[in-house]
Amino acid sequence: MTTTASLILDTARRGELHHAVILHGPSPSLLRDLSIRIAKTLNCLEGTTGDDCASCQRIDRRTHPDVHVLEVGGDKKLISIEQVRELVGEATLRPYEGRNKVFIIDPADALSIPGANSMLKTLEEPARDTHFILLTRSPDLLLPTIKSRAQQIHVGDTARALTGPRESMRIRQVALLDDGEELAGHILDTLHRYATRGESAALLALAAIVSDHDDVKDAIALLGAMFCDIAALDPRESLDPKKLAEIREHIPRERLLAAADASLGAIRWLAVNADVRLVVEQVVAALV
Ligand SMILES: [Zn+2]
Repeated sequence: MTTTASLILDTARRGELHHAVILHGPSPSLLRDLSIRIAKTLNCLEGTTGDDCASCQRIDRRTHPDVHVLEVGGDKKLISIEQVRELVGEATLRPYEGRNKVFIIDPADALSIPGANSMLKTLEEPARDTHFILLTRSPDLLLPTIKSRAQQIHVGDTARALTGPRESMRIRQVALLDDGEELAGHILDTLHRYATRGESAALLALAAIVSDHDDVKDAIALLGAMFCDIAALDPRESLDPKKLAEIREHIPRERLLAAADASLGAIRWLAVNADVRLVVEQVVAALV
């Protein structure tokens, strides 16, 4: 378990966890696992962060009446407003048998705008012993009004998660596109222009290059893969090493990784037919 995860669980065990937290990170399964561990910790009969007591077992089997997981149903792309209304109603009730009611929203970026709005008040003034755990690849995908009501916690080592399959990922992305090499060259040049001259126009140009591409999802994936490559400490890449070094000198590594994270989120966001240019502009804005 990562240090972050142990810290969160320990905070929950002491009863000091913020009533609304956003867990964000590159691995959806890691986020889900941690949210379940938090639910167990908040309700464990033995006071542990998860064992085989009756409560923990019921949470594992998803039959605990006080632990609710809101997820996207069937072939839908969004969590429905009805699901949110049910949550809001349920959240006004006292726990049935546990110490705490726990609502896990997976992923929180699948909340529609009306859905998100209808739970704002509940998020802001929850009943006692009620916790909300919102999962997302990137908090940038959530409405600011939701973000401002919750504590944001990054889970998992982005660098490690993304640099593992890094090389194959970029090379695969290049290969997926007819003009992959050319696009990669454009992205690198434009990013370099931004890094060395600080022209914010270059960032908008970068967003335009990617969002105007015929195959926008693969183009965004290539963009994300390149952010990872550039952030990596030893890119054994065919990318121009001088340009790479100059970009890294001007754009902090955390910014590059944040933008890589945002790229992953953007691809998901496009599934709900969001405005492409806007989504890609948000990706490059993570560099600033
Ligand atoms: Zn237990």
